[in-house]
Amino acid sequence: MTASPVSRHHQLLVVGGGNAGLSLAAQLLRADHRLDVAILEPSAKHHYQPAWTLVGGGAYDIKDTERAEADYIPKGAKWLQDAAASFEPDANTVVTASGQRLSYDYLVVCTGIQLDWDKIKGAKEALGTNGVCSNYGYEPGPVYLGVREELQGRHGPVFGPQHAHQVRRGAAENHVPGQRLLA
Ligand SMILES: Cc1cc2nc3c(=O)[nH]c(=O)nc-3n(C[C@H](O)[C@H](O)[C@H](O)COP(=O)(O)OP(=O)(O)OC[C@H]3O[C@@H](n4cnc5c(N)ncnc54)[C@H](O)[C@@H]3O)c2cc1C
Repeated sequence: MTASPVSRHHQLLVVGGGNAGLSLAAQLLRADHRLDVAILEPSAKHHYQPAWTLVGGGAYDIKDTERAEADYIPKGAKWLQDAAASFEPDANTVVTASGQRLSYDYLVVCTGIQLDWDKIKGAKEALGTNGVCSNYGYEPGPVYLGVREELQGRHGPVFGPQHAHQVRRGAAENHVPGQRLLA
């Protein structure tokens, strides 16, 4: 089977238009505006994650952490609204979810992390119950706020490690009622 032809070529292809991808593209274009930079990012929304801690502390509105991706694409960069489905490094090519073949001179991959709650038995089910919550995500934001309100004048929180896969195995299902586990 022969590979389908390249749909387009860019000097620099940045996969992932989160904080890392956007900052890197902006810095390079600031250094040389003639660079041909494309950002491959499927989401129309950009989330400013550091502010999620402030949301938990009541100093920031969760809605203000979600912005339009289009507003943050650096001037001079092209936004390709699609996702990387596979990489063909020998051919300097990325194949997208929609079947485009993108070739590049240089590739930067900054696709962030993927939360895998299922790595810890009971963690996903426990979210939003018995004071278990996480500030790692836009969706759990309201849950986090609910738990904060619930905490007023009660037991102090137990902060777990920040990544779900690092949370102490069994912590979610075995935690003592009344004790708060925040990841
Ligand atoms: C609660 C919290 C507090 C934090 N506080 C701080 C702080 O105080 N200071 C600090 O420096 N850092 C902080 N961080 C960390 C910081 O926010 C992250 O390190 C940073 O946002 C990561 O940026 P990123 O671009 O690597 O990933 P992300 O911003 O997650 O972006 C990854 C992008 O890749 C895209 N993507 C995923 N898969 C694909 C694919 N297949 N193809 C194309 N695109 C794809 C996603 O849609 C996403 O837009 C905090 C994080 C959290 C959650």
